Amino acid sequence: LDEEASAKAAAATADSGGPTIFDKIISKEIPSNIVYEDEKVLAFHDVNPQAPVHVLVIPKLRDGLTQLGKAEPRHAEILGHLLYVARLVAEKEGILDGFRLVINNGPGACQSVYHLHLHVLGGRQMKWPPG
Ligand code: C5P
Repeated sequence: LDEEASAKAAAATADSGGPTIFDKIISKEIPSNIVYEDEKVLAFHDVNPQAPVHVLVIPKLRDGLTQLGKAEPRHAEILGHLLYVARLVAEKEGILDGFRLVINNGPGACQSVYHLHLHVLGGRQMKWPPG
């Protein structure tokens, strides 16, 4: 029931375009367990892991990318870089033989933070179909 309630709460969240908790993670005002960082992206362990390895990869500059559905041609380069960094993270975390990438887009997918992020999940057998 708890799971159902939290899913509903997440689903109720909409894209306000306002600041998110990830701004404070990027500025390091809120500490995170960083896996990879360069000038364009940050990858850190999710505080509420859904698998033995659960890392979020985010662009440092949101530039309108509150969600993937808002992507425009100018975002193509950063989108490609995020995907490549997800692969680096998988290698670093030792899950290259089996990992999953997830992007929750909008209320219907229970997106809760409106700053684009890739979930990198692994370290256990992943099931299909996902929930
Ligand atoms: O895809 P969605 O928007 O639901 O994912 C947001 C993710 O951000 C969640 O997995 C949540 O655990 C994570 N999070 C975090 N640190 C925070 C706030 C949220 O890792 N301070």
